[in-house]
Amino acid sequence: MVPGPTPVPERILAAMHRQPIDFSGPEFVALSDRLFQDVRALFETTHPVFLYAANGHGAWEAALANTLSPGDAVLIPEVGQFSEGWRVLAEALGVRCRTIPNDWRTPIDPAAVEAALKADAMGEIKAVLMVHTDTAASVTSDVQAVRAAIDAAGHDALFMVDVIASLGTTEYRMDAWGVDVTVAASQKGLMTPPGLALVAANDKAQAAAAAASTPRRYWDWAERLSGPHYKRFCGTAPEHLIFALDEAVRMLAEETLAGAVARHRRLAEAVRAAVAVWAEGGALAFNALRPESRADSVTTVLVPDGFDPESLRGLARERYGVSVSGGLGRMEGKAFRIGHMGDINEPMVLGGLAVIDLGLKRLGVPIGAGALEAAVASLAAAPETLARAAE
Ligand SMILES: *Cc1c(COP(=O)(O)O)cnc(C)c1O
Repeated sequence: MVPGPTPVPERILAAMHRQPIDFSGPEFVALSDRLFQDVRALFETTHPVFLYAANGHGAWEAALANTLSPGDAVLIPEVGQFSEGWRVLAEALGVRCRTIPNDWRTPIDPAAVEAALKADAMGEIKAVLMVHTDTAASVTSDVQAVRAAIDAAGHDALFMVDVIASLGTTEYRMDAWGVDVTVAASQKGLMTPPGLALVAANDKAQAAAAAASTPRRYWDWAERLSGPHYKRFCGTAPEHLIFALDEAVRMLAEETLAGAVARHRRLAEAVRAAVAVWAEGGALAFNALRPESRADSVTTVLVPDGFDPESLRGLARERYGVSVSGGLGRMEGKAFRIGHMGDINEPMVLGGLAVIDLGLKRLGVPIGAGALEAAVASLAAAPETLARAAE
């Protein structure tokens, strides 16, 4: 029950259980050529998706190293530890970051983005860097609203969105929503082991790359699109992760993206129903203040002063075999986080909630009674539950 890495389905494990093959032979070339096409459906884009042997930080760096030059400015509307992490990485590349402060409990304010861009009369800001779902805050911000803010300001900055914690769990349409660069990673909603970074870039982003001077080779988009197949991976392909992602793309196609999004919504509602009841005890609270911006892939629960969330995490892990995450960044020691993304279903969520409920009771945290009943009632009221059981 942590927000990444998430459980890997047996089908995906089985797809990896094989010998490496010649990475420039016909079998691997055909498989990866097909995957480069098929993976675009996850982003709802027709533009190229680059695959790197890297984690989410690698995806962040790929996006920036391709499109920016040292000294360029970017605008980062803060939303949690992950917008902060992307900022730190950008600074290391020599990018000047202007942030819009945020309380880490509410979504990105599009009006503030518009105002910041309007104030940029010299056009210094080359990109807006947005985190769709911040996995620390468990807040999902509105991509279309931020796009509309950029348009309303009449600014031509690139629009980059981190969907590492939302792809495959939450509606996202790269092309229709006017996003120029999307960054993702394998180990969250995509149910694949950690180690693959996915970056989609449209024509505008690739044109910016042609003019950008940050030194790069491994990350370089133009290099990857040029010439022989092995350049697509800048050397030996991470074959087993490619086999895994290929199977994950197939599984998500079978479920349909809309089906996966609906499943995450249904399970998230059950988690939120339980957290709302726990909160009646007066000690725990949702970190995300606005119900409509609570993430469907992870829920951050604030704990009271004097209660160490590590005690809950330790009990859940050591006694019951359930992993729960802690707070990150400024929420370290002040929160625990329930991941509900990827290959998860009703019994997993109910089991995880039951263990947390039990742990909170054993540790003497005052909580409202009936959290599990509320989670079950929420699932019982979701029409998809019956449809899915009947299939
Ligand atoms: C997990 C995560 C990252 C970082 O990914 P790593 O694979 O740990 O480098 C970045 N952004 C978001 C939104 C994430 O959830």
